[in-house]
Amino acid sequence: MSVITVGTMAFDAIETPFGKVDKIIGGSATYVAYAAGNFVKPIQQISIVGYDFPKEELEELQSRGVQTEGVEIVPDKKSFFWSGKYHIDMNTRDTLVTDLNVLEDFNPIVPDSYQGAEFLMLGNLMPKLQLSVINQLKVRPKLIVMDTMNFWMDIALDDLLEVIKKVDVLLVNDGEARQLSGEVSFVKAARKILDMGPRFLIIKKGEHGALLFHENHVFFAPALPLEEVFDPTGAGDTFAGGFIGYLAKTKDISFENMKTAIIVGSAMASFCVEKFGPERLKEITKADIDERLSEFVQLVNFDIDLV
Ligand code: AMP
Repeated sequence: MSVITVGTMAFDAIETPFGKVDKIIGGSATYVAYAAGNFVKPIQQISIVGYDFPKEELEELQSRGVQTEGVEIVPDKKSFFWSGKYHIDMNTRDTLVTDLNVLEDFNPIVPDSYQGAEFLMLGNLMPKLQLSVINQLKVRPKLIVMDTMNFWMDIALDDLLEVIKKVDVLLVNDGEARQLSGEVSFVKAARKILDMGPRFLIIKKGEHGALLFHENHVFFAPALPLEEVFDPTGAGDTFAGGFIGYLAKTKDISFENMKTAIIVGSAMASFCVEKFGPERLKEITKADIDERLSEFVQLVNFDIDLV
């Protein structure tokens, strides 16, 4: 069972109330790959980096079952760079810099060896490029999951709406769901967004968990209350990686199984925020993941006697 992941591989500069880093590995596809690789192999990565992206990072990903044939290395340009600052409420952040660099002329090519993948994770990227990957696939994957952000709603809404039409699951955060739908209520927002094409919608609410919408059904997954949230960067992508990784592992794309998959996504995201960048994701073992999943079971498990 293979999963194609598309998105950015980047350098990030991050400032949180707990510290600051000037240059750390980031990118939507990087986080997705580190998270999904715990559940399924191979992860078939499609991205682009510049001359400055460390070879060791690509090797680290390869050692975890990530294929990088689809990662283009541009010898005379820098990698994508993003910089963000979090305040005390870590659910919101300011983007300080978005330097597209290599992304400016990225034309993703799906390698022949990736054809036939049953799962496609469209990580946050220019919508036109997400669409180009869908169009290059000779057989439609069993499930296409898409992540995006307000940045693309602001500058490429028409392209974005075109991709949204073609995917099965759309992931957005609360603010983005409201921006995309023009509705304040999440229930109304979900109805409008599901009318745009996807069969499933996940609204991520940071430390307040995530909602999964499908037809007239809704399911809620909490986020684990953590003593310390060090750096939320990549939590959304890590959630997506855990979600699609679990679905690919279990080969079951029913609404019931997606409920478990969003718990798995939340568990993976809870690791991501414990250290800067993808550092914590590189450390964790299967035992750590299992233990955290049982904490989630404890968190939401209760009995009730209806009188
Ligand atoms: P998240 O915190 O899950 O939204 O993802 C943060 C990651 O997304 C960072 O590592 C950035 O490098 C990457 N990123 C930030 N802005 C963009 C963008 N406009 N397109 C693609 N990736 C981005």
